[in-house]
Amino acid sequence: MLRSALLAASRSPQVRTMVEKFPPTHAIVERFVAGDRLDQGVAATEKLVASGRKVTLDHLGEDTKDADQAAGTALAYEHLLAALKETGLAADAEVSVKLSAVGQFLPVDGEKIALENARRICEAAADAGTTVTLDMEDHTTTDSTLAIARELRADFPWLGVVLQAYLRRTEADCRDLAHEGSRVRICKGAYKEPESVAFQGKRDVDLAYVRALKILMAGEGYPMVASHDPNMIKIAGQLAEWNKRDVSSFEYQMLYGIRPEEQLRLAEAGNTMRVYLPYGQEWYGYFMRRLAERPANLTFFLRAMATRG
Ligand SMILES: Cc1cc2nc3c(=O)[nH]c(=O)nc-3n(C[C@H](O)[C@H](O)[C@H](O)COP(=O)(O)OP(=O)(O)OC[C@H]3O[C@@H](n4cnc5c(N)ncnc54)[C@H](O)[C@@H]3O)c2cc1C
Repeated sequence: MLRSALLAASRSPQVRTMVEKFPPTHAIVERFVAGDRLDQGVAATEKLVASGRKVTLDHLGEDTKDADQAAGTALAYEHLLAALKETGLAADAEVSVKLSAVGQFLPVDGEKIALENARRICEAAADAGTTVTLDMEDHTTTDSTLAIARELRADFPWLGVVLQAYLRRTEADCRDLAHEGSRVRICKGAYKEPESVAFQGKRDVDLAYVRALKILMAGEGYPMVASHDPNMIKIAGQLAEWNKRDVSSFEYQMLYGIRPEEQLRLAEAGNTMRVYLPYGQEWYGYFMRRLAERPANLTFFLRAMATRG
């Protein structure tokens, strides 16, 4: 119930205005978001890299309304990638891109615009010597995102994609993508989806996540295990061992500000541990999805609201 309400609120302009105007919000958002500006994203990346972690940066933005805004987001990524190259961080930091932010939902030629913008970002990443991963959004975008990824991979074979274990289709997608050189981030999934396309309960989603992990770890690709769940992390490690995978043939990923001690533990044990680091002004949708995922995050937020009176 609460999760559904928060996910609905993440799409409500009225609630957005209320939350954005609320003074303590910014202090809480800082826990999950590096800051509004590029230099803050780069500074946070430097700190994470110095601690032995890798990074994937997300320039926050979704629900792009016109082609200029979409092109502006692509430009922001080009600037980010140039900054990673200049600061020598590109070996340890890549970028994550939401196709909706670069035009996928635009009513006229949305997919074409998103493909062109994503291509610009991939070219900038290739120039900087790093990679790009396409985030996955709600299930209405899965086919389109995978099709755009297929097209881009012809020129940029290192392009990563995300699969969401809660979708019933994902086992089949894992089989399709478990080939050599294929970088696949497997996560549980963060959107509100109907029962017709997605498993609903935690147990069913966890079982689906393990099935996806089994396929990806047994395959030839490069699995990116995106979860904070201790059970999933343990199972991923066991599956890597059973499949005689070297630690360099897969990685763990977690979100900025979530389980930082566990992030460090995994990195110190010799694993690649990549932190998903968002920055930018459009933090609202991202922040609300984090609240929806975990009641403790919400309690933290509500307590701050209450103490403000
Ligand atoms: C790197 C990364 C990239 C992602 N990209 C996408 C994407 O492209 N598309 C998409 O739909 N979703 C994405 N997600 C979000 C993902 O789908 C889940 O919504 C999110 O990760 C929560 O699921 P979970 O696996 O962590 O486990 P949950 O089922 O949420 O949590 C399981 C357990 O993990 C531990 N845990 C979880 N959160 C916390 C916390 N805040 N503090 C302490 N312990 C905690 C607790 O023990 C909890 O019981 C991404 C997640 C990560 C980590």
